[in-house]
Amino acid sequence: MKYAKMKSRLNSLIPYMNLNTPISALTRVGKTTASRLKNLGINTIEDLLFYFPFRYDDFSLVKKISELIPNESVTVRGKIQLIANRRSWRKRKILTEALISDDSGSLKVIWFNQPFISKILKVGDEIFLSGKLDEARLQMVSPDYEKVKLNTVHTARLVPIYHLTERVTQKQLRFLLSQAMSAIDEVKEYLPGTIIQKYNFPVINKALAEIHFPADLKLADEAKARLQFDELFLIQLSIQKIRKQLGENKAASIKFLEKQTKDFVAGLAFKLTDAQKKCSWEILRDLEKVRPMNRLLEGDVGSGKTIVVALAMLNAILNGYKVIMMAPTEILAVQHYKTLSKVFSKQKFNIALFTGSERLLNGETLTKGKMLKALEDGDFNLAIGTHALIQEGVKINELGLVVVDEQHRFGVSQRKLLARDNERKDYLPHFLSMTATPIPRTLMLTLYGDLDLSVIDEMPLGRKSVITKIVHEQERVKAYDFIREQIKSGRQAFVICPLIDPSDKLGVKSAKQEFEKLSQNVFPDLKIGLMHGRLKSKDKDQVMNDFVQKKLDVLVSTSVIEVGIDVPNATVMMIEGADRFGLAQLHQFRGRVGRGAHQSYCLLFCESGSFETAKRLKYMEELSDGFLLAEKDLELRGAGEIYGTRQSGLPDLKIANLADAKMVSAAQQEAKNIIENNELTPELERELQKLNMSMHFE
Ligand code: ADP
Ligand code: MG
Repeated sequence: MKYAKMKSRLNSLIPYMNLNTPISALTRVGKTTASRLKNLGINTIEDLLFYFPFRYDDFSLVKKISELIPNESVTVRGKIQLIANRRSWRKRKILTEALISDDSGSLKVIWFNQPFISKILKVGDEIFLSGKLDEARLQMVSPDYEKVKLNTVHTARLVPIYHLTERVTQKQLRFLLSQAMSAIDEVKEYLPGTIIQKYNFPVINKALAEIHFPADLKLADEAKARLQFDELFLIQLSIQKIRKQLGENKAASIKFLEKQTKDFVAGLAFKLTDAQKKCSWEILRDLEKVRPMNRLLEGDVGSGKTIVVALAMLNAILNGYKVIMMAPTEILAVQHYKTLSKVFSKQKFNIALFTGSERLLNGETLTKGKMLKALEDGDFNLAIGTHALIQEGVKINELGLVVVDEQHRFGVSQRKLLARDNERKDYLPHFLSMTATPIPRTLMLTLYGDLDLSVIDEMPLGRKSVITKIVHEQERVKAYDFIREQIKSGRQAFVICPLIDPSDKLGVKSAKQEFEKLSQNVFPDLKIGLMHGRLKSKDKDQVMNDFVQKKLDVLVSTSVIEVGIDVPNATVMMIEGADRFGLAQLHQFRGRVGRGAHQSYCLLFCESGSFETAKRLKYMEELSDGFLLAEKDLELRGAGEIYGTRQSGLPDLKIANLADAKMVSAAQQEAKNIIENNELTPELERELQKLNMSMHFE
């Protein structure tokens, strides 16, 4: 016992630590604590130093006992006169009571169920107590305590508060960080001096010291700004690096065929919107270059992306190149196949469909072997498919353009895979990604900064907007009557639920439960389908097809309902537990209806009656612009909430705020400068390597 104590004293005195020292080397970190910290992503001293607090308790105000006023966050310094445990007679709690005094008076203090305190603090000890004076009793309840010393950690200062799970306490983490501070000078500056000067940032060691144990709030803010910038800057560096690498590849120049393009557009049943013209032009100009295009076409549901993409395809094919288009699911692949076959009916292009289960060429079914041969021999102009298209065994020559629908992170390596059998091996195809997901600009820069952006920010004329209503529980029956009426007049309806199975949480609607209820009690005479993520993909396709072919009246589904699925006959989108979804996602659901000639409706049911929720959902009633809704979402809920890390490739931001447009674009600009001027230092390279381990841009 004595020996252990001595050893730990010694440990905290000797600065043996470096950044790679495992945290288990720290005083009071045993196996259990080490594994809990590991779950927080903290393995080494360096990880610990880069684990940032999200706010501070301000206990920097030190007052005399006689000056204390109730409910003020404050620290007192005094001597312990009495301290003892006792059992409360009613609640069987253990109370620790103490009396402390300074030269102005004395103060009663009480702690609950922390009997060890009376072992740590002894009569005669000089201590700091941080907390608030209780109004009723004029005592301090459960204050933070610490023996008086020069550099306090838990009291008498701005005290850092961390996001913690895993049964690690604030006190524990602060104690560990106070030890790690001795390694802070080992952290080497990686940000170029010019940037540090330009933005007046503290150097990295100072920033780290002040983010954890700030001398005052101003210094804490400065440290925070620097560390936020670092995070955004490094992400941008990594993106700009990829962008540069892409730009160094060659591509076949696809000439803009003005006459054929004009004839094609003249043959359409409608006039292109200005936004469609602008985006088409941006794409066609890129295609003419001898560098591969890397562009994202973004446009709300129904904004007319297909025709813009078709213009690019037309030019590529007429220049003699092959085009492929990848969709995230079989259903969407089939949908694109049908649409594009119609769009190009006059051109007599050879169009193929290649998915896991279906292989068609100009409407005729082929065996897999025949299809692979047709692709390799180039007996097609346009092939549409799922990921099956980039599997082993598929060889495509003279590939000029790749279009990818709704899969934002279709990486460089995947693109190379596509080009691997291209006769000219050093060429990459032009690449066009398309999405209906409205993404706020700052997120766009952070997530897809390696892509150029074309936005269709205008809807074709005469589009009816979807009438959206928040529906109160009392009006549920009326809502069902309304749905029945719509179905009677030949339409169809979606019902979205937040969960698959009935949950233990009271009141959260599950798709299975709703499906039972609707098919047995509410609409026993109608045909109801059920769709959720645990269905096999074959069964999902079956249900979806049944709905498309009007074999079902109502489709009950979880949020898996396809992005981009087109059922023009559906006019009602009813969403249970709408408060559980973000605005951007609700907007996506709403986009499933309003695609035909009929007026459509979106009904939002909500579980919580809170004011915040009501305010958020109100935006759905008021706004039909997906971008505005996405911006609101980012503002109200933060990026992590909205764009789940894994699905989007969004890095887990520790401290940066993606709603801070100014900082995001400053970080991008600085990163661009560095990459363009070849000023990537070894220090920055090292930071990039660390970042790449936590992120997947490929
Ligand atoms: P998105 O893929 O962006 O959701 P689509 O390309 O599927 O939209 O277009 C939606 C519908 O609007 C299609 O039926 C399409 O033919 C039609 N459309 C496209 N552009 C126009 C336009 N400029 N004017 C009128 N209708 C259009
Ligand atoms: Mg579409």
